[in-house]
Amino acid sequence: MGKGNNGLMTSDPITSDPTTGPPKVIIIGGGFGGLYAAQAFKSARVAVTVIDRHNYHLFQPLMYQVATGSLSPGEIAAPLRGVLSRQKNTEVLLGDVVDIYPAAKRVSLADGSAFDYDYLIVAAGSQTAYFGQDDWRQWAPSLKSVEEATTVRHKILYAFEMAERLPDSDERRAWLSFAIVGAGSTGVELAGALSEIARQTLKNDFRSIHPREAQIVLIDGAPRILPTVPEDLAVKAERALTKRGVQVRTSVFVTGIDRDGLSLKTAGGNERFATKTVIWAGGVTVSEFGKTLARRTNAQTDKSGRIKLNPDLTIPTYTEVYVIGDLALGVRPDGTPLPGVAQVAMQEGAYAAKAIVSRVKGAKPKRPFKYFDKGDLAVIGRGSAVARIFGMHIWGWPAFLIWVFVHLMYLVEFQSRLVVFVHWAFQYITFSRGARLITGSAASDLTKLPTESKAEAPQKQASSASGSDQR
Ligand SMILES: Cc1cc2nc3c(=O)[nH]c(=O)nc-3n(C[C@H](O)[C@H](O)[C@H](O)COP(=O)(O)OP(=O)(O)OC[C@H]3O[C@@H](n4cnc5c(N)ncnc54)[C@H](O)[C@@H]3O)c2cc1C
Repeated sequence: MGKGNNGLMTSDPITSDPTTGPPKVIIIGGGFGGLYAAQAFKSARVAVTVIDRHNYHLFQPLMYQVATGSLSPGEIAAPLRGVLSRQKNTEVLLGDVVDIYPAAKRVSLADGSAFDYDYLIVAAGSQTAYFGQDDWRQWAPSLKSVEEATTVRHKILYAFEMAERLPDSDERRAWLSFAIVGAGSTGVELAGALSEIARQTLKNDFRSIHPREAQIVLIDGAPRILPTVPEDLAVKAERALTKRGVQVRTSVFVTGIDRDGLSLKTAGGNERFATKTVIWAGGVTVSEFGKTLARRTNAQTDKSGRIKLNPDLTIPTYTEVYVIGDLALGVRPDGTPLPGVAQVAMQEGAYAAKAIVSRVKGAKPKRPFKYFDKGDLAVIGRGSAVARIFGMHIWGWPAFLIWVFVHLMYLVEFQSRLVVFVHWAFQYITFSRGARLITGSAASDLTKLPTESKAEAPQKQASSASGSDQR
């Protein structure tokens, strides 16, 4: 890869040194797709540059455990430089790719630098979609980034703290009510974990409230939860959630979110649900760079912006550009779209890398990409999960053990696997959640405890218990 071309803050793109050497491959994004692509280039005669706006690979499937205090962010993130340090043909750059000039085979970064490529793999992933209602974001954070996961953790734990100090039963109720919008695997996992927090982890921690009285509602507009798993397993998952006190509300549409709760449209009419904690697990759209890529290459997209590709994952107009993961509209042989999951991104990443190596060697083009569907998994809580593995439907303990095994196996670093395993074992025995810190600030911090008479009693209560004002 040409060096010395990442000077900062220049107005014109600076190009990389166009020396002849091994073909230059740029990978945008070091998530599941990008990292697996980079690793598949190991020992290939190409110069690989991985560019990511974060210096870490994030294991998003365990993000809900950060949001619910089971794990710390560092346990599900691995520094990209460290992961790829032994791969001598690969360099890692921290940077935000903002534009592409496909005719010139060049990408430019937000800092003004630019890089030339012979082949490009775009694995820039997705971002949370609020279906055009971006103002909901401030009241309903999602779990797409480490920052958002810690904001959600903050909101959940802060809600119990506020409830502890409020004498008014309606207000307390609102703080002890939690709404999760979106009943895919993230929503289901969050609901199950929240129920465990309320019923087990916090059960002895408060003096004025009973955390187990918390109301946890999982809402989805679809007629059932877990749309990607077979119906019989979804029914089992719903039963397991209900047993844990979660109210599952399907065919219910969110029409508004604000500081004090949700507006809902149901078959029976419009409703209001008072809550101070709404968590968004409602869906994703393509990343900003994905939109730029589609525009610059005149690529066709589906309605969520995923790019339509040749069967070998290249863009029809620029066949040196591969698109993989959440940004790609991969299809099955029957034409149905592939889901936006880690397995698809990983397999596409490995395929794209091998296809490029074949082309560099002048070998026969690879066969079209074919997804090998290993199945789906969703965990509800301790000893409870559902799994479709190689066509078999499994639930309860066996599915839970498979879930544990699969998630540990795919964590990128051995050290993280060990630490996470120890945490889970400890949590299993004690129900404790070690990462229960309220850090940073969230919108809910703007809430003032009432200073008038009704607030005085609990404030006194709190200060007499601790000797100081908790806020
Ligand atoms: C909360 C949550 C839970 C999930 N749970 C599961 C699960 O249980 N099982 C499952 O299979 N899938 C799960 N998924 C989906 C899975 O994580 C994604 O399908 C997968 O990460 C897609 O891989 P990707 O490489 O396309 O994108 P990502 O893994 O999201 O990686 C994209 C990378 O690109 C970088 N990037 C983006 N734009 C730029 C830019 N302009 N410049 C530089 N870098 C950029 C980002 O920083 C990121 O590192 C979950 C997702 C979320 C959010």
